[in-house]
Amino acid sequence: MRLLEEKIKQDGRVLNENVLKVDSFLNHQIDPTLMNELGKEFSQRFAADGITKIVTIESSGIAPAVMTGLHLAVPVIFARKRKSITLTDDLLTASVHSFTKNETNELAIDRKYLNENDKVLIIDDFLANGQAALALVEMVQQANATVTGIGIVIEKSFQPGAQKLKEKGLRVESLARISALANGEATFITEKMEESI
Ligand code: 5GP
Repeated sequence: MRLLEEKIKQDGRVLNENVLKVDSFLNHQIDPTLMNELGKEFSQRFAADGITKIVTIESSGIAPAVMTGLHLAVPVIFARKRKSITLTDDLLTASVHSFTKNETNELAIDRKYLNENDKVLIIDDFLANGQAALALVEMVQQANATVTGIGIVIEKSFQPGAQKLKEKGLRVESLARISALANGEATFITEKMEESI
């Protein structure tokens, strides 16, 4: 998505060859106009799929997920990060190791918000090793709901997450795909380049 690529070029900061910082429009300060455009784009890509719920993870997935929910007119559920989960609660759970914070979190979604009739679109801000997305897939499957697709704002295609998800037969739609972070710059995989591969 050209608009997003331009924003990353203009305001993103390449911290090192693995990490891109986008605190000024996605991860700390949020650009609502851009989020709305991202939501519109995701909603168009999944318009024909009968999505009934969106599932994301707190906190950075919430903004693009809510905008997508607005355009698809469906509720948005965010998995909460908890230090410990009481076994008595009726929860869908998974653990996830954070790529950027190097810590493991327990994730939980109240079972009452997902059921076997739901067709779920998972949304997240970044895709790196796929841990966050796979944990969300696991929770949706615990509810016997269907994962219809995964929408990612920024995919770092040089890391294995996208490949892992696709190998599981999951549809991944990423709005910006980065092939490398080098010399302080992000290089994008454009649709044109892909056609010629
Ligand atoms: P994964 O679970 O796919 O390894 O990593 C995805 C999660 O890690 C995302 O939810 C995001 O919060 C965080 N993340 C991964 N890579 C980056 C990055 O380059 N920049 C930022 N800001 N967050 C990232």
